[in-house]
Amino acid sequence: MVQTLLCAVPIPLVLIGANEYIEYANDPAIELLGSGLQGRHFSSVLRQPALLEAIETALSSRKSSKSRYQSNVGDQVALYDVTCAQAGESKVLVSFEDVSPLHEAGQMRSDFVANVSHELRSPLTALLGFIETLRGPAKDDSVARDRFLEIMEREASRMTRLVRDLLTLSRVESEERVRPSKTIDVAQVLKTCIQTLKPLAAGSNVTLCLHDNDQEKSSVLGDADQLQQVFINLIENSIKYGGPKGNVSVSIQYSPHEPGLRGPAVHIEVADNGEGIAQIHIPRLTERFYRIDSHRSREMGGTGLGLAIVKHIVSRHRGRLKIASIKGKGSTFTVILPAS
Ligand code: ADP
Repeated sequence: MVQTLLCAVPIPLVLIGANEYIEYANDPAIELLGSGLQGRHFSSVLRQPALLEAIETALSSRKSSKSRYQSNVGDQVALYDVTCAQAGESKVLVSFEDVSPLHEAGQMRSDFVANVSHELRSPLTALLGFIETLRGPAKDDSVARDRFLEIMEREASRMTRLVRDLLTLSRVESEERVRPSKTIDVAQVLKTCIQTLKPLAAGSNVTLCLHDNDQEKSSVLGDADQLQQVFINLIENSIKYGGPKGNVSVSIQYSPHEPGLRGPAVHIEVADNGEGIAQIHIPRLTERFYRIDSHRSREMGGTGLGLAIVKHIVSRHRGRLKIASIKGKGSTFTVILPAS
């Protein structure tokens, strides 16, 4: 009866008898620790000292104890919270709760804080350095003062952009599970974006044009401000990384059946004929602060958060982001949104 119950529990469980030998292990435990567990002494199976100590404490003191267990399969590491609980007649039930996702989330959070601190530290160091120079050696040098103030303004603007993007990212993430409910005309949103970015394109010597073949079929359930942010980020990148004298072409097309979305969709494509992106970088481009060339991205005023923001907004709209690129030929970013 007890074994039938233990067998139905989906987490690894090992029952150790008063004689310290394993009486029973359910299937998840066999998957974690290997077969042939029954009848073996627990110390020959669970070899990690902290866990052995916890089991011994539970066996001798008849009190529950807790420990950690780490399993390594290939290069996959999993971390378990282990509870050794009294299970009557001096037996101990050892249960393993997989806490790897929590642990990974914690790790990601601390990496993120380290990245943000690093990004803020360099402009701050520059600002403090220039303040000191302006107070000391360059006090009476008006030419140097103007040049330094210009650099200081640039560094301060960089921090402002970083903080703005961080706030946008956090807002978008907090809303990610709330599906937008307004009907939006994507073609209209794109037109506004093109108008906004025309001066930037002209200033960078880039031709920017919009092809909208299916204007009457471009409505989606969306958040207009967020979609505008998506297209602005993508078009801005194409202008930035597309290089001077480049062409950035934005197109919108209706697809009556999009297999990945199981229904009709609107495709928005932003293509440039710039430097392109090597294949190994493509899967990581939407990670926060991932840049192919950090120095260059910073020089161009990038924060490394633009595509992360794009990914979260597209995911909130239950859409897809596809990136295709050929090094030296150019890149195409396609946003696919469910049509309404
Ligand atoms: P950034 O602020 O650095 O532009 P993004 O998240 O927008 O940050 O982009 C991440 C990185 O992806 C950029 O640093 C750049 O290396 C690369 N990238 C983005 N768009 C393009 C593009 N159209 N062509 C080439 N590289 C691009």
